[in-house]
Amino acid sequence: MCLATGINVDDVDPTDGYNISRRAYESSRRSWVDHMRWDGLSYFYVRPHLEKVVASWTRRRPQLIEGDDWAAAGASAHLEYWQEHGGRCRSDDCLIHDAGRLRFEAGYASGDRERVAAWTVGEAHATLTGPHGREADSVAIPAGADEYTALCTIMDRWGEDLTRWSRIPQEPEHQPAAGEAPQSAPGDAPPAPSDTADRLF
Ligand SMILES: [Zn+2]
Repeated sequence: MCLATGINVDDVDPTDGYNISRRAYESSRRSWVDHMRWDGLSYFYVRPHLEKVVASWTRRRPQLIEGDDWAAAGASAHLEYWQEHGGRCRSDDCLIHDAGRLRFEAGYASGDRERVAAWTVGEAHATLTGPHGREADSVAIPAGADEYTALCTIMDRWGEDLTRWSRIPQEPEHQPAAGEAPQSAPGDAPPAPSDTADRLF
């Protein structure tokens, strides 16, 4: 197919006939940067797809993509575009605009109420709260985890039947003024996992 449209035989991947010319590379890159210009970068949609395309080019044409960071180019295009159009994009899961802390909440059906698994970026544990607001279980989140890792950890522990998943921006942490006692010292021991945990599931 590519050969019939006049593409150089060196620009066709022999394994699957994919067009790997510089022109195809530039066009693929441009379409992703344009996409990110408007949409930004999200953990669960844009980022995984972008990573797949970049990995594919890295495998097929490493010399073209070396030193060429598509995500960085897309992020600058996104920030530049939205600076001119109100400052903040309309996507509620845009990683580029998530400067502050985020709390994640995953809902699980529980009769006519809901159990909620929650994690705040940077914290060592996610907790599961039962229908009556009591903490029912907790799970350690690996240090430095991103949202995807945290979500996988939550689903490994409490199941994949989420009814909802929200990301809630957090106010910057309260900085105690001089002489004011902090409300909770950093480095407090995480809550011990509840001993009811294994009976819940
Ligand atoms: Zn954004």
